[in-house]
Amino acid sequence: MSYNLDPKLLAEYVSRYSAEDGDCVRWTGFAYGGSPGGVIGSKKFLVARALWEAERGPIKPGVYLRCTCDLKMCINLDHRKLMTQKQMSKLNGSLGLMSGPVRSAKIAATKRAGKQAKVSDADVQAIRESEEPGAVLARRYGVSNATISKYRLYKSRREFGGNPFLGLLQGA
Ligand SMILES: [Zn+2]
Repeated sequence: MSYNLDPKLLAEYVSRYSAEDGDCVRWTGFAYGGSPGGVIGSKKFLVARALWEAERGPIKPGVYLRCTCDLKMCINLDHRKLMTQKQMSKLNGSLGLMSGPVRSAKIAATKRAGKQAKVSDADVQAIRESEEPGAVLARRYGVSNATISKYRLYKSRREFGGNPFLGLLQGA
């Protein structure tokens, strides 16, 4: 996905909604799923992605721009790293996400719920906003990978249509 934003407009917009914070550049504008989000005219975009594309070239679909510092709202491109979904899930695995008691509890809950696992509206929103791999989310919520993809592509559960940033994740 390429935003094709005017670099000058983008630079102006970013300077208005960002502030230096040590080594980091803190985004003071919108947050979209915990990541810096922006809108210029009718174009909505993820700020770090837009900046990366403007300065370093297009990002392939399915590739994430992971924040490597502790500040998730940081837009310093030196604190961002391109990562495939595979690399992301490997990293999440090595960080111990979905391991130990939490994982066991989730698995038990999934088994209890069986195929009728009920995903709440809030969960659907969290799934849409998450940058985690679909397989991780599928395990967590006890639904299939296909269901996660469907939520992310907004083929079902359209009740959050008022969010101006819906749709951003489609190419992410
Ligand atoms: Zn940073």
